[in-house]
Amino acid sequence: MAKSNIDLFYDIGELLQLFEKTMSIDNFLHNVVDLIAAHMKADVCTIYLYNEEEGKLVLTTTIGLPKDYIGKVKLSPGEGITGLCFREGRSILEADGEQNIAFKLIPGLSEERYTAFLAVPIIRSCSTLGVLVLQHKKKGYFTVTDERTLNVIAAQIAVVIENAKLILEITHKTRKPKQVKEFNNILFIKGSEGSNGIAFGRAVIIGKRNDAFLGFPGIKKKVPTLKDFERALGETLIQLEQLQRDMEKEFSEMVSLIFSAHLLMLGDSAFSGKMLDLIRKGKPVQDAIIQVINHYIDLFSKNSNPRFNEKVLDVKDIGHRLLRNLYKKQDEPGDYTDQIIVAQELLPSELVKLSAQKVEGFLLFGGGITAHIAILARSIGIPMVFSDDERIFRIHNGTELILDGFQGTIIMNPSKEVYDHYQILNEEQKKIESKKISGKILTKDGVRVFLYANINLLSDLKIAIKMNAEGIGLYRSEFPYLVRNELPSEEDQYRVYRKLLEEMEGKDVCLRTLDIGGDKMLSYLSPSNEANPFLGLRAIRFSLKNKGIFSTQLRAMLRAGEGFPLKIMFPLIASVDDFLEVKQIVQENIDLLQKAGVACNNKPHLGAMIELPSIVEVARELALHADFFSIGTNDLIQYMLGIDRTNEAVSTMYTHYHPAVFRALNKVVAAAKSESIDLSVCGDIASDSLIIYFLIGIGVRKLSLNPRLLGDIQQHITLLSVEEAEKVARKILSMGTTKDIHQYVQSVFPKALLP
Ligand code: PEP
Ligand code: MG
Repeated sequence: MAKSNIDLFYDIGELLQLFEKTMSIDNFLHNVVDLIAAHMKADVCTIYLYNEEEGKLVLTTTIGLPKDYIGKVKLSPGEGITGLCFREGRSILEADGEQNIAFKLIPGLSEERYTAFLAVPIIRSCSTLGVLVLQHKKKGYFTVTDERTLNVIAAQIAVVIENAKLILEITHKTRKPKQVKEFNNILFIKGSEGSNGIAFGRAVIIGKRNDAFLGFPGIKKKVPTLKDFERALGETLIQLEQLQRDMEKEFSEMVSLIFSAHLLMLGDSAFSGKMLDLIRKGKPVQDAIIQVINHYIDLFSKNSNPRFNEKVLDVKDIGHRLLRNLYKKQDEPGDYTDQIIVAQELLPSELVKLSAQKVEGFLLFGGGITAHIAILARSIGIPMVFSDDERIFRIHNGTELILDGFQGTIIMNPSKEVYDHYQILNEEQKKIESKKISGKILTKDGVRVFLYANINLLSDLKIAIKMNAEGIGLYRSEFPYLVRNELPSEEDQYRVYRKLLEEMEGKDVCLRTLDIGGDKMLSYLSPSNEANPFLGLRAIRFSLKNKGIFSTQLRAMLRAGEGFPLKIMFPLIASVDDFLEVKQIVQENIDLLQKAGVACNNKPHLGAMIELPSIVEVARELALHADFFSIGTNDLIQYMLGIDRTNEAVSTMYTHYHPAVFRALNKVVAAAKSESIDLSVCGDIASDSLIIYFLIGIGVRKLSLNPRLLGDIQQHITLLSVEEAEKVARKILSMGTTKDIHQYVQSVFPKALLP
């Protein structure tokens, strides 16, 4: 009988789903080996998991080997083929295991009966959790296809194993909740804007990551019973399972089992079981929940492994949901509807989880307006404000807040008048954001201008299409990397890029390669601890240093571009040399795909992002080699003015009204014109309606911006003529101070449209 790899994928998928509901980890792993052995018709299927304390790989479950060796066979990394597979983090396929120099017989296991050997590492987020081993009597029984299949299966089960390990490894200590100090007199805090929009809701204070969970102080209206707790627990499980399913539809590029740690904990006897225990012994329900939640916060936050610390917010989230479900009226949701989160910091994955639970807004400590967390919030469409005022942590849970993401302000306990005022503002903004592009975009004197959308998430695509965007001028490919806990595979990336290209139906789509580093760090790669991350291994520099990651991404893009016009651009190009190196790597990957007979776009248009002063100076030379330029003004300003775009202390100095910025833009546009290559502007300057005169005046005809603002910007373009715009541009280029430029721009702008 033939092996059935496809069936195996389906069955493992089902098993993963089942696991979320009911299974224990032991059961789950046993079912995994059982399934794999049956589908692969293998004689032996074994899982070894690594125990960090002992520094050993422990035989954890098996089909085919004697069961009494479970937990007893322990291998050092590098010991035997299994240990070697673990140490080197690569799969090992042997027609005859004995031929491998690392082969080692373990007394009592009777392995001498088996010849064919296939060992696959179980890897999660760059760390190897264990090894999956298949054995068969027949020499050469396993094939390369089996090896590939097993690698995919191992990656899937790694998610569950990692979360289970986190929960199994914790010990038992408790911690006292810290009391919140009184905070009565402050009604207004000025912070800075993170994501536009106005949010209305009650404060949920998450505070600093390790702060204790306080529950909902002051709820005295009813005393919940054991039965109420069981109902709340049941509802919490159902809601989270539903959320997991919804998330996979909405954020398919980023999310895999994002709520699995929640579900695992809720199903664990040491967690919800402990709560039940305490309640049965007479502890009030809310106190029992808070005690167990704080116990886990303590354990996770004290662990030296940062991946444990990341689970702290998941625990707080469960506590919040359990209590919401405990006290809510029948038809209320257990989520964050009508609530605003106040926290010191959030990881991208946490932001996605909280937004999925309908949070109204975020008030975060510190930060800066272009930090990636703000870009993500803007994409999802949730207002966000940053403040470096420590007093935000002294706001009482449940305080009525208005969060103004346009101005970066927070108002506490607003009067009815203030509340109504903000409601009106909110409505007006919604009107602006619902304007679509209509017809061709022409200036007053009939010159064609193109408006494209900047996209961060696949979900932005819906808005871009709804607003009639004429193309995608910038796809920030890093979000799938940032929100996950591991590097996305070539296949995962291919699916995202293909979807973008398919949904835009042949319109221009420009994919930007990975731009991490700076403020966008991948938590699962070892921290680089750079003193100046914005001047360090960022964007294309990271890709050129990590050619494996870079090539995987390029191949996904090239494959996705098959049959479509494909544009790829590279962030933070510092020299013509950088660009030539990048071009060569692209060509190598095209050759590789073609040799392997894989369909791809073998003539992509390759462009450079203009974000550094050094490249402005050699733009003419670069234009000889690039198919297009895209000016990223967010970074260009940062590097020209020497101002960290995420540093609150210098944020008022970060301005695109500096004469040097205007002159640099002019130089780059002239260079592109001289070699007749395409050019667009994709930084935030493109959505500054006052600056559009200048941009059109120096010859820019393509702008890429937040899709929600496309209709509004079209309206501004139709009111200007190129002749006037050229005059304005000449005047601005002749000015030497920021102040003069500000005043001038305001004076020439049509009064009716002044923001
Ligand atoms: C820019 O720098 O202007 C840009 C568009 O890129 P990002 O904001 O993603 O750095
Ligand atoms: Mg940039």
